[in-house]
Amino acid sequence: MAYIKTRGVVVREVAAGDYDKILTVLSDELGKISVSARGVRRSGNRFSAGTQVLSYCEWVLYQGKNTYILNSCEIIHPFYEIRQDLTLLAYAAHLLEMAQDAILENQPARDPLTLLLHGLHALTNKNKNPELIIRVFSLKLVQIMGFTPYLMGCCKCGTKEIDEIYFSFEHCGFICESCHNNAGDDVLRIEPGTARALIYVICAEIREVFGFELSEEALRNFSETVDKYCGDRLEKKYCRHLFLKELQ
Ligand SMILES: [Zn+2]
Repeated sequence: MAYIKTRGVVVREVAAGDYDKILTVLSDELGKISVSARGVRRSGNRFSAGTQVLSYCEWVLYQGKNTYILNSCEIIHPFYEIRQDLTLLAYAAHLLEMAQDAILENQPARDPLTLLLHGLHALTNKNKNPELIIRVFSLKLVQIMGFTPYLMGCCKCGTKEIDEIYFSFEHCGFICESCHNNAGDDVLRIEPGTARALIYVICAEIREVFGFELSEEALRNFSETVDKYCGDRLEKKYCRHLFLKELQ
């Protein structure tokens, strides 16, 4: 039997039978895959930790009829810090849901997986604001999917000299003050800090993308821009983190 080796994160687990699980794994080589993990809910099973949501493992699988079958898995990173904190878990669920929607079945997904892992690591850093992390993650993910906003000047008239920057959701990028006057309602005024943050995320390498902070005020403006831009691209609202506001 030919074994397949791949690295990936468990994003979903469903109990099956008396002792089994069906996992959804986002993997570097195979994209989104279903893995049938037999016997892993028996007490003392040596793969029970690796087959939980958030576990990043090296997987050894073989091809079954409808799913991949687990042969073995070795944990590379368990993200324990996230599991132990309800707030972080909600933010992580938001990242997992978006990644799951963006990654296709049986297509290599190295960049989105790398982004997910850096995002999860960033969540475990107590000095980082998770509200910023989920927006940076969303914007970079949407860029990886092929939707890059135009931020190098005004996307209507082309000028690079912009005093007051606006973001046009219709034109998917910055517009200048004079173009904004005829642009309709689908625009948002962009603070200088937000403009710098948007440009940074689009230009940065994935491993560096979470490496900045924003003031509370700039974060509000940045979040509003990213949420609307990404929501329009993905045609979906991601609400898992919103219940956190009710908890606080
Ligand atoms: Zn213009």
